Amino acid sequence: MSSEKREYAPINPPERILMAPGPCNLHPAVQRAAIAPLMGHMDPVLFQIMDDTVDLLRYAFQTENGLTLVFPGTGGAGMSGSFMNVVEPGDRVVVGVGGVFAGRMVDVASRLGADVKVVETPWGTAVDPEAMRQAIRQHQPKVVAVVHGETSTGVEQPLAEIGQIAHEHGALYLVDTVATLGGVDVPVDKLDIDVCYSGSQKCLGAPPGLAPVTFSERAVEVMRNRKTKTLDWYLDASMLEKYWNKERVYHHTAPVLMIYTLREALRIVYEEGLEARFTRHRRCAEALVAGLQAMGLKLFADPAVRLVSVTSVVVPEGVDDGKVRAGLLNEYGIEIAGGLGAYRGKMWRIGVMGYSAQPKNILLLLAALETMLRRQGFKVPDGAGVAAAEMVLG
Ligand SMILES: *Cc1c(COP(=O)(O)O)cnc(C)c1O
Repeated sequence: MSSEKREYAPINPPERILMAPGPCNLHPAVQRAAIAPLMGHMDPVLFQIMDDTVDLLRYAFQTENGLTLVFPGTGGAGMSGSFMNVVEPGDRVVVGVGGVFAGRMVDVASRLGADVKVVETPWGTAVDPEAMRQAIRQHQPKVVAVVHGETSTGVEQPLAEIGQIAHEHGALYLVDTVATLGGVDVPVDKLDIDVCYSGSQKCLGAPPGLAPVTFSERAVEVMRNRKTKTLDWYLDASMLEKYWNKERVYHHTAPVLMIYTLREALRIVYEEGLEARFTRHRRCAEALVAGLQAMGLKLFADPAVRLVSVTSVVVPEGVDDGKVRAGLLNEYGIEIAGGLGAYRGKMWRIGVMGYSAQPKNILLLLAALETMLRRQGFKVPDGAGVAAAEMVLG
C-alpha cells in the first residue's frame, strides 16, 4: 500500500430487483432484523430466537423431526454437511443427476470417500424413478440423493417414488431443497425424507449465509452408529446439536445477525402460511411463463416437470445474453441469471422466490425484457408479454 491515505467512501449498494435464482429481495422486516443490535452467541435472548427458528423450520419442512438445526454457511454447507454426517468412507451412494447441483452432490460425496453411482438424465428432464430403481437394486446404496429444484435447468424432481424405492432397499433418502423450501411444497414427513437441507436466501427469503437441515430418526440412528468420526469438525451435526438444543454447549460463534434474519423470514413464511405462499409463487411463475411464451421465447425445461421457483429460458439465436442481462441490470435494476456449464450464454434463469415473487416484478421484467430483445433485433409483438401475464394474474 502507498503511504498516501486514500478515501474510502461508505458502501452504497443500489436497490435491485433480484430475480436470479437467489438471493431474492428481503421483506422489510427481514431487512430490519439485519440491523438489530448484536448479541453474544451465548445470550439467553438469542437462545429463544434460536428455539423459535427451529420451531418455524419444522413448520417450513413440515416435519416433527427432533434433529432440526442450521449449518453456518450457504446452501453449499447444507450439501456438504448433509452428506458428511451420514456418509463414511467406502459407503455407496446413488445420486440422480440432471444438472449442476446434483453434479455437485457427486463431487461432495466422492470427496468424502463414498463410492458414488450416478443415474443421469439429460438437462431439462427429471430423473426417471425406474432408472433409479435399477441402480438402487444393483448397488444397494446406503444413501440415495436427488435435488428437488434443479436450479441449473429449472426442473422440479418428483420426490415420492424415488424415496419409496430407497426405503424398500434400506437406504437413506437425502434431498436438496435449497431452491424450493418455502416456495414449493416440501412435505418432509409425508415423503419420509431422511436428510433434507436448504439455504436461507432462496424461497425462504433471508440473506445468504445459513443452511437449515432436518434429519429423520432413521438418519439419526445411522449417525449414532458411525464407525468413524464425521470427517469435518465444523459441520458435525452431533456437536452442532449440543449448541442448538438445550445443552447450549459452545461450538462456534454463531452468525447472530444471520440467525435474526432467518428467524424473521421464517416468521413471515408462517404468517403467510405455506399454502398461500405456494400459491403466490405458482401464480407468479405461471404469469412469467405465459408472458415469455407470448413474446415468442422458448422455455428450456420439460413442461411436465417445470420448476415454479426457477424458469429456464432459451436465449434466442442472434441475441447477446450478456447485453440483455447488463441492460436489465443497469437500466432497470433487475437481476436475472445466465446459464451454467454448457449453457453459458445460451440460457436465462429467472427466479421467482420469496419476497421477489410479486406480480409487479414479473410485469416489470417482461416489459424490460421486451425492450432489450427489440434492441437486439428480436421481434416481439407489442406488449404481448405483459398482456399475457396480466391475463394469468387477473
Ligand atoms: C443455490 C443452490 C445450492 C447452493 O447454495 P449456495 O447458497 O449457493 O451455496 C445448492 N443446491 C441448489 C439446488 C441450489 O439452487
